[in-house]
Amino acid sequence: MRKRTIPFYLASILLLAAVALISTRTFAASPHQAPHFFLKHTSPTASNLAYHGGPEMTGTANVYAIFWEPTNNVQVNYNSLIQRYFGDVNGSGLYHNNTQYHTSAGKDPSAEHLAASWVDNGSYPESPLLDSDIQNEVSHAQQAKGWSSSPNNIFFVFLQANENLCFDNSHSQCASNYFCAYHSYFGSTTIYAAMPYAASFSCNPGSSPNKNDADQTINVTSHEQMEAATDPLLNAWYDSSGNEIGDKCAWKFGTRNASGGDVTWNGHSYIVQKEWDNHKINCVLTGP
Ligand SMILES: [Zn+2]
Repeated sequence: MRKRTIPFYLASILLLAAVALISTRTFAASPHQAPHFFLKHTSPTASNLAYHGGPEMTGTANVYAIFWEPTNNVQVNYNSLIQRYFGDVNGSGLYHNNTQYHTSAGKDPSAEHLAASWVDNGSYPESPLLDSDIQNEVSHAQQAKGWSSSPNNIFFVFLQANENLCFDNSHSQCASNYFCAYHSYFGSTTIYAAMPYAASFSCNPGSSPNKNDADQTINVTSHEQMEAATDPLLNAWYDSSGNEIGDKCAWKFGTRNASGGDVTWNGHSYIVQKEWDNHKINCVLTGP
């Protein structure tokens, strides 16, 4: 699923139908203005991902982790486990699965690394937070740390426990009632992912190999990371229903080991969902 609640979607269709009488280009513009939500419940189809011409995070993606934690209200080792995940996912079969999805220039997302992290103890400007606050935080971090936007840079904003985030001002699309996380972009190339504290918002994969709340957030993080790599500006790889690589396999896991993980990378166990493989026409943990 890409974006929007049903009421908003229907309202949009009515509005767009009216506008379409005047201008036919309105439909084409709408997909770029919404984020890509990771919903708490999904019903994906079996159709393959198709390429829509947009860029990908080709080659090596640079990950910037912003831990926006005003009162450090996260479980001990939460941040460090997430950082460890970003180190371990590179070279994994899960990330390698992205390499089958090429741009028109024949490039693909093949690697990633954690470029830098920052813990920001600055206070939240409002509660619940809104998407505009997340975008402002990305800009704030860029200024504070000298980071810049690039088609190869992605900024993850992790929030502390119990901090709700809403995409819309009416609070109908929130971590508390609608999504687990989302990825989007602003400007032309500022790619970001909004990452609420999953353990506070019913986004539980059902096991915890590291016995830490970070396990829940890491699963959601992997979903957003693979989607952003293959569809950073929401105009590259997604299926006929608008589902991206992660949506099609949300909440589908592999066989769990004794610790509850379904992958082991560099000796570290994680529970992460599968991702879509066009070759297998199925969800996988290791791509071609
Ligand atoms: Zn998604």
